[in-house]
This record gives sequence, C-alpha cells and structure tokens, in this order.
Amino acid sequence: MDGRLNGTVALVTGASSGIGEATATTLAREGAAVAVTARRGDRLAGLCDRVRDAGGTALPLTADMTDEAQVREAVERTVAELGRLDTLVNNAGLMILGPAAGATTQEWRRMVDINLTGLMNTTHIALPHLVRAAADSPRRVADIVNVSSVAGRIAFAGSAAYCATKYGVVAFSEALRQETADHHVRVSVVEPGSVDTELRDHNSPAVLEALTRRFGGIDRLQSQDIADAIGYIVGRPRHVAVAEMLVRPTQQV
Ligand code: NDP
Repeated sequence: MDGRLNGTVALVTGASSGIGEATATTLAREGAAVAVTARRGDRLAGLCDRVRDAGGTALPLTADMTDEAQVREAVERTVAELGRLDTLVNNAGLMILGPAAGATTQEWRRMVDINLTGLMNTTHIALPHLVRAAADSPRRVADIVNVSSVAGRIAFAGSAAYCATKYGVVAFSEALRQETADHHVRVSVVEPGSVDTELRDHNSPAVLEALTRRFGGIDRLQSQDIADAIGYIVGRPRHVAVAEMLVRPTQQV
C-alpha cells in the first residue's frame, strides 16, 4: 500500500457494506491506515483482513452511530492505536422512504439520529484531532468528507424525512467548512445519485417496487464510483478544497 495518503490515518463510518467499505479499501490502497466503524463486527473483520492481506493497516471498531459514547470510544481508539486522525469520512446512513402521512415518527427519529446527529457528533469528537493533524506532518491538511445525497440538493415527494437529514448534512458541512478553513481542515460533501448497495433493503415492498420502477431500467452507480470521488477529494494538494461533488448515474434525471 503506497500512495498519496502514506503516513495518514482515516476513519470511515458505515464501512460494513456499500460505499463505506469501498471507500475504506480505496483510502487504504492510497496508503492510509484505516479505522472502520459499523454495528456488524463480522463484516468489519472481513474488510480489515482483506486490507491487511493487501499490505495495509486496518482497525475494526464496532460502534452504533446513535450512541455518542460508542462514537467517542471509536474516535479515541483510532487515535490511540493508529497514532493520529487525518481524514474522517462520515458515511453511515439509513434511508426509509414513503409518504410522510404513512411514516412512523420512530423511523424519522432513527434517520435523524444516524444520518444527522450521528454525523455531527462524530465530527465534533474528531475535530480537535483533525486540527492537530493538519498542523503537523505528513500533509499539513486534514479532511472531513460527509456523504449526503442528491436528496440533499433536490427534495422528492415520498422522501421528506430522508431529504431533511441530507439537506441538514449539506448545511452543517458548509457552515463548518467556513469555520475550519483557516486550520486547513477541509470539509467536503459528496452527493451520490442511485448506487447499487444494501441501502434500499430496509424499505417496504411498495417502496422497493417504486424504486425498481424508477431506477430498474438504468445503469446505476457502483460503490467504487463514489469511493473514487472521495479518494479524489482527499488526495488533492493542501491548497485545493473540493467543497461539493454531486455524482449521478448518467441516465438518472
Ligand atoms: P449501505 O446500507 O450498504 O451502508 C450503510 C452503512 O451504514 C452500513 O455500513 C451500516 O452498517 C451503517 N449504519 C447504518 N446504521 C448504523 C448505525 N446505527 N450505527 C452504525 N452504522 C450504521 O448503504 P450505502 O453504502 O448506499 O450508504 C452509505 C451512505 O451513502 C449513506 O449515508 C446513504 O444515505 C448515502 N447514499 C446512498 C445512496 C444509494 O443510492 N445507495 C445515494 C445517496 C446517498 P451496520 O448496519 O453494520 O451498522
């Protein structure tokens, strides 16, 4: 493992599947030591074995994003065991769709807790470490990459609560970007269109049918497409900040 991120440490949330797993693998390939979090520890262990087999360094950290104490422990173990924190990828997320009138407030709370509050708490806990990393070697810059969505830029009927969380991520990221720019802590938002992952699996059969009608006929993105976007953002030289990247499948309108 040898590349632009040699000597750096990255923490990727939601790395047990999909975009997070591909991103951790990509950052490790570029030379970063990676700490990975999610609830499914068996998946994290498999990912870390693959990274190590390829010559990299990986640390699995089972944590529920909705539990601030577990998030704190994951960030602190990353710094204690890997030595520093240069890159935070806030990727963990949940998408439950459907008309607002038919939703339960418990579903809404879960999405806000994971997609928004969890992301904000992780950022808050990680920030002092990122500021410190940006102030010393190796790259004198640090990164927070927040995974929002096209649904964080355009609201759609049938996804009010999910859109609210992803719009929230965009707003939080832009304000934070302005606050941390002087410290050389870059804050970026990635807004994927439809990606072929497990994300939709938590939905009702009616929603799954609607999603298949909408996206079934198009060539959707793969997780690696978004991991490549994140790798590009983090790999920029110190004076270049990519604030936002919206990546759709070519045929998604
Ligand atoms: P996946 O369902 O494959 O990944 C979601 C990840 O989040 C999993 O690793 C899951 O791990 C983790 N996660 C969910 N809940 C929690 C929790 N309570 N605590 C800790 N980790 C949790 O979907 P994607 O890879 O597609 O999603 C990644 C991000 O991309 C999300 O933020 C999503 O909103 C966003 N996105 C995805 C799009 C798509 O079309 N797929 C489009 C636009 C944005 P575990 O279950 O093991 O805890």
